[in-house]
Amino acid sequence: MRRSAALMAQAQRLTVTGSVWWRPATNDIYWSDEAYRVAGQDVGITPSVEMMLDRCHPEDLPRIQKLISNAMNRGENVDVEHRLLMTDGAVKYVHVVLQNIGNNPADPEFIGAVADITERKLGEEQLRRSDVLLREGQRISQTGTFSWKVETDEITFSEELNRIFGFESGRVVDFDAIGQRVYEEDLPLLAIKMADVRQGGDNPDYEIRLFVDGQIKHVRVVGRIIRHLDGTMECIGAVQDVSAQRIAELGRDKLRSELSQLARVTSLSTMAASIAHEVNQPLAGIIMNASASLRMLCANPPNITGAVETAKRTIRDGNRASDVILRLRNLFKRGVATVEWLDLNDAIRELIGLAASDLQRGRILLIEELSDPPPFVLGDRVQLQQVIMNLLRNSIDAMTDTAQTQKKIFVRTVVGLGEVRVVVEDHGVGLEGTDVERLFDAFHTTKPHGMGIGLSVSRSIIEAHKGKIWAEPRPSGGAIFGFALPFDKDSVDRPSPPEMKT
Ligand code: ADP
Repeated sequence: MRRSAALMAQAQRLTVTGSVWWRPATNDIYWSDEAYRVAGQDVGITPSVEMMLDRCHPEDLPRIQKLISNAMNRGENVDVEHRLLMTDGAVKYVHVVLQNIGNNPADPEFIGAVADITERKLGEEQLRRSDVLLREGQRISQTGTFSWKVETDEITFSEELNRIFGFESGRVVDFDAIGQRVYEEDLPLLAIKMADVRQGGDNPDYEIRLFVDGQIKHVRVVGRIIRHLDGTMECIGAVQDVSAQRIAELGRDKLRSELSQLARVTSLSTMAASIAHEVNQPLAGIIMNASASLRMLCANPPNITGAVETAKRTIRDGNRASDVILRLRNLFKRGVATVEWLDLNDAIRELIGLAASDLQRGRILLIEELSDPPPFVLGDRVQLQQVIMNLLRNSIDAMTDTAQTQKKIFVRTVVGLGEVRVVVEDHGVGLEGTDVERLFDAFHTTKPHGMGIGLSVSRSIIEAHKGKIWAEPRPSGGAIFGFALPFDKDSVDRPSPPEMKT
């Protein structure tokens, strides 16, 4: 008996559950020691109904009084959770069960238990709170979460993710349903990324487009691959709706390209007007003299001396026209505004930041291999950046149809003997069948909306910097464009640059 009583007491202690016996008719009440502890009463004082209600939280009291009175008067069982307010102000949660085991309805006899469930309740509340927080956080940041059990393809979407995908909440999600929402052009990318996860590759981090309710959404997917103890894999991650950001970026890019197009067109039209103005005069002279000389030759007898004279004048006018063109070209070359010692690596890093959105849109990986020591040159930072940007843009354009795995651009700087080289290498359409020299001519373009002046302006800029620019096919496909500028290894210490003449 003693042993089993000890065991029982120990079990009550461990489960924080006290036992209770109560016969209302005789006002007999028994509490186990643990029941006293749960109720925060001194062990041994004679229990009473008042004492039972003593610690009841005032807000719960009316409800509990009613249950106790129904138990006393009608023998009704009790099964209730309520709060206790302890003398030190702490709040406890208890679960009280009283079961009528008496045979006489007029004389109920209850046996039951009172369990301290504070920890469970607090845990539940915490869970509820973090659940609400998580849900609100997802809603505000437009980020949904998912879990994908790789072996079974069992997928769970959070409420917000269902909303992003335009799924009704609580639906069972599978890859068919997801595939129907992914923008068709991006399906191959999704397939590659999923195959990566299945092979236990890198944690996914990519952007794809969805097509939901007639609208395109841009989403960023970031995940972590988890290997469970039983050897199975699970990919857990977040999907953020970044449409607003992308749309703003696209708008900005469009504006930027419209502006630069406008700038090109204006400078072109000014150039065209001055070419027309300057060349028209000698042209008119050429036509006049040529027809005079024709007339003299056709006369009977032909006036040879006169014809030779006018032909000479034709040549003079021709030379004048070509002088005009030369002068215009020089005009084009001019404009090295701010000449300074600059670190080309630095200038390139700055550019890469600018080109980031173009690269991302083209899903192109840019690999920098920048020299150490830094390539210091004397020149106009903005103009040289223009040249490099033009090479980058051309490489991006050239890789539109390149296979995804090959979409890479290498940017290298190399410091050699007395010169610095910048090389941009791509895996694009390449230069096969192209007359490489012609690429640098003004107005040579193979693009439907190209202007064909990027490379010719680049050449003018590089030549003005006493350098040279070139292009060559990449042996296994693609193109290599590069330029070299004079390098002076002591230049870093030089205080102020000399004037540059162009
Ligand atoms: P645009 O880009 O307006 O056509 P550019 O002078 O910059 O003018 O380029 C001239 C032409 O050179 C392009 O139309 C293209 O045919 C060719 N080109 C330039 N860069 C590359 C490259 N990286 N790969 C293949 N072709 C290129």
